Amino acid sequence: MPAYTHLFFDLDHTLWDFERNSNETLTDLYEAYCLYERGGFSVSDFLFAFREVNRQLWELYNRNQIDQQTLREQRFIRIWKYLGASGMPPSQLGADYLAICPTKPHLLPHARETLDYLAGRYRLHIITNGFDDVQQTKIRSANIAHYFEALITSQNSGYKKPHPAIFDYALAQTGAAPHNSVMIGDNLETDISGARALGLDAIFYNPERIAHQSEATIEIYCLSELQQIL
Ligand SMILES: [Mg+2]
Repeated sequence: MPAYTHLFFDLDHTLWDFERNSNETLTDLYEAYCLYERGGFSVSDFLFAFREVNRQLWELYNRNQIDQQTLREQRFIRIWKYLGASGMPPSQLGADYLAICPTKPHLLPHARETLDYLAGRYRLHIITNGFDDVQQTKIRSANIAHYFEALITSQNSGYKKPHPAIFDYALAQTGAAPHNSVMIGDNLETDISGARALGLDAIFYNPERIAHQSEATIEIYCLSELQQIL
């Protein structure tokens, strides 16, 4: 492996266990708002609908086709429609989700021990398309702030992965160069293609072992593999 000095991590679905933290939040809200009585759908249908609709909205957001406000306002309205429920979702549902979900602490398997291992050996940073306030809360809630020097977001850089400008900004902010940097993330488009386009090596975290044809430098199925590779 080249002599890396800087490691850039994605946050959601790479370190912070978005699925688990989000599902816990949604299950609590399903109970608190009596969503079965209101909408007639099961909690598992609610979780599935959220996952589908949220993924679609984030793809639109990453491609600059909708903004943050639209994503936040539309999410539960679209979920309601997706589930074929009548009426509208409770008006506070979206705000409650945004307030509670980032306070959940769960990391993906072996994230913490791997960060412990890497922290003394490399300079660690985060590059995320998430929003400043939300991502800072997640990092605090999961107690991982002390591992990272720079938190690069789509807000503070003005660009979203995979746009080269966000990687350029990250390199400039941290004093890193493409040849001594590696990007680690779960998204082939935003994390892997984006980094590769700028000449950074990229490690694709693929815990579900999806089939793909990307040009990731290395692929891992578990974060603990980083302790052997790096
Ligand atoms: Mg991700």
